[in-house]
Amino acid sequence: MIGERIKEIRNELPEGVRLVAVSKFHPNEAIEEAYRAGQRIFGESKVQEMTAKYESLPKDIEWHFIGHLQTNKVKYIVPYVALIHGIDSYKLLAEVDKQAAKAGRRVNCLLQLHIAREETKFGFSFDECRQMLAEGQWRQLQHIRLCGLMGMATNTDNVEQIKEEFRSLSNFFREVKSTWFADDDAFCELSMGMSHDYHEAIAEGSTLVRVGSKIFGERIY
Ligand SMILES: *Cc1c(COP(=O)(O)O)cnc(C)c1O
Repeated sequence: MIGERIKEIRNELPEGVRLVAVSKFHPNEAIEEAYRAGQRIFGESKVQEMTAKYESLPKDIEWHFIGHLQTNKVKYIVPYVALIHGIDSYKLLAEVDKQAAKAGRRVNCLLQLHIAREETKFGFSFDECRQMLAEGQWRQLQHIRLCGLMGMATNTDNVEQIKEEFRSLSNFFREVKSTWFADDDAFCELSMGMSHDYHEAIAEGSTLVRVGSKIFGERIY
């Protein structure tokens, strides 16, 4: 079942769009089933859970951290994480840089933007992000690599609203790319789209879709 769903979703993705299988709260057995279907990128939102899975599962898995990351927990994931999607402050970015230096790595990061009309979602506003980039301190950080942007649309049935939110992030991506990263090929990722809205996200230019329940079934919180 899990393997079939992985293949179905992957068949729908246009070239240049990658699938992050969001395995949070699902056991190793579920991940192993997806792995046998060829899936190698998995997304997790809790530091302890991701680290335990990293330690016990095959080493060619790319672990993406998609949750809200606390600065005091950065050190646990920096040695192995492939991409951190949710950088929502300069302070967090600087901590990733510091821990990555200690680990002798350069860690790939996405800046998270708040695009939803909901209070509860984390992320920079467009203006906060512009300001952080304009201040320029991030240029001194040698152990992080900014690879793009991430965002979550409002959890709503209003498809027009979802499209509009994704479009706003896509436009902002183009602005940031041309203003600060025009010569940097690494800045190329736009992480948006979940189980219920990844088709809309792809239509608006997503390169990384984060799909959980559509693959693994509903989570029990
Ligand atoms: C849980 C989660 C997802 C996956 O959500 P589904 O609706 O299960 O596909 C994607 N992105 C983030 C940031 C998440 O926390």
